[in-house]
Amino acid sequence: MRHSLVTFVCVLALPPITHAAPGAVRCGKVLDVRSGQMLTDQVVLFDVGGTITSIGSSSSLKLPGGIIPVDLSHATCLPGLIDVHTHLTGDPTGNGYAGLGISIPREAVTGVKNARLTLFAGFTTVRNVGADGFADIALRDGIDAGEIEGPRMRVSGPPLGITGGHCDNNLLPSEYHYKADGVADGPWAVRAKVREVVKYGADVIKVCASGGVLSKGDAPGTPQYTLEELQAIAEEAHKLGRKVAAHAHGTQSIKDAIRAGIDSIEHSSLIDDEGIALARQHGTYLVFDIYNDDFILQEGAKAGMLPESIEKERKLGKLQRENFRHAFQSGAKMAFGTDSGVYPHGDNAKQFAKMVEWGMKPLDAIHSATINAADLLGWGDKIGALEIGHYADLIAVSGDPTSDMRALESVKFVMKGGTVVRNDLAAK
Ligand SMILES: [Zn+2]
Repeated sequence: MRHSLVTFVCVLALPPITHAAPGAVRCGKVLDVRSGQMLTDQVVLFDVGGTITSIGSSSSLKLPGGIIPVDLSHATCLPGLIDVHTHLTGDPTGNGYAGLGISIPREAVTGVKNARLTLFAGFTTVRNVGADGFADIALRDGIDAGEIEGPRMRVSGPPLGITGGHCDNNLLPSEYHYKADGVADGPWAVRAKVREVVKYGADVIKVCASGGVLSKGDAPGTPQYTLEELQAIAEEAHKLGRKVAAHAHGTQSIKDAIRAGIDSIEHSSLIDDEGIALARQHGTYLVFDIYNDDFILQEGAKAGMLPESIEKERKLGKLQRENFRHAFQSGAKMAFGTDSGVYPHGDNAKQFAKMVEWGMKPLDAIHSATINAADLLGWGDKIGALEIGHYADLIAVSGDPTSDMRALESVKFVMKGGTVVRNDLAAK
């Protein structure tokens, strides 16, 4: 009893991370992400629940009595950004054999740190695709309960994978009898695994369809799950109201995953013309993580990545970027996902400049991290745009990101659901 009393007193001493009043922000400019129009001198008004109730020019919009808007009159406002491929519970230091010494509770603590870094970088929503144990679910729930700061999260729990595949852990010899939580082989076993991760709180299913870069003993280009297994996963997940994200570097696995009805292809590195045509036909989103290649090649060895992983990246990185450009120019749907955790969290926005370097206009890159990402998450009515009925998730930058993409790398103001979590623009 004495322990619980101490806990109770400590909790009372913490400031609540919750929003408790209606409010407004006044923006020098607002990017209407749907039209691409830059609107000047706009006010965004939100209610006690942190939902936008009106948005319009400051001269025409009448503020309710007592509301003094946050002054962002020298800044450009955009909707909060969305990264659809994160690993908040992991850091780049946990690669290879170093990762074996990190417990799941310790990973949850790492997640608390990274959730805050990601939110402060302007990402008010993430889809976390793959975490040991169910640490990501604990993280999501802690954020939703207002106990810790972080983005809105859609989480997968452990990723499904074949025995010995990219999402198993192949570092230990057989006498340790170790396999990763998400390992399942065969159509009925994978259905059971989907049911299991949903049981423990997964919002989305992550599956490793092909080999990968940061795993031992497999090749990124080779298929792992069969078409039959991928179909079973997609059917079971959709029946339970969950979307599926498939890790797939390999040409064949990309096509199998799309044909199986999976909702997004992660990495998409070796996609060919037929794969792009299939993605367009099925409306499948492609997620190309084209920033982290540089980090792996430059910092990977220091970060404990296996030599074979760095060699795999050397072969794959440039092809992935060329295929990103080709897929985009061919009209495939793109969502912004970075694989954060491979590189340090909070640097997510560095991928925007890479996307522009490889063929997108800045507004296309912004679309991928707002309306497109929201659509992929099945959350287009609440996030990804500053519109009535959406959450008041808003960021502000100096300058114009539609002409200077790197403006998004230094976000000055972040608000999530009407709660200001960062304001570097306030008069000091
Ligand atoms: Zn990943």
